Amino acid sequence: MVWEDLSNYPYDPHARVVGWLGMNSAFKTAVPPAAALEKLSKMLLSEKPNFCFGQARGFHHCEFCPDPPDPDVDIEGWFYHGTEVLSDGVSRRRLGSCRFLVRDISKPSNHYLVAPSLIYHYVREHRYCPPQVFWESVMAESLDSDFDAERIFGG
Ligand SMILES: [Zn+2]
Repeated sequence: MVWEDLSNYPYDPHARVVGWLGMNSAFKTAVPPAAALEKLSKMLLSEKPNFCFGQARGFHHCEFCPDPPDPDVDIEGWFYHGTEVLSDGVSRRRLGSCRFLVRDISKPSNHYLVAPSLIYHYVREHRYCPPQVFWESVMAESLDSDFDAERIFGG
């Protein structure tokens, strides 16, 4: 799925999209702010609060990465079938099969930004620079809350 940054999320009028990139997407690049990248990683790995929803059975592979030489080799923390395993040593999440939800800090409280979980990979490996409101929304979110993306947008 390829959507233009900050266009409306087609499934809910209270959300906008960020980071839905494809092979032909042109995007601004920047070195990601370290604190924001770390926060994003923690949010993706967190189970409570939970910022992920729409778990799929399959995986969307990064279209900017070449196919790995041996698709059956699972290298911890690295690519697997063109997806990436995020891990902090305790929790693991294979990126590319769920959506990431964060409150849109620029709007009233029932508005959200929806990104693919691969956004972490796009930012870190391909220097994709998301709209500033994405990082601001990530930094504003608490890791100590009862936020549950599945409850808000799941199903
Ligand atoms: Zn990639």
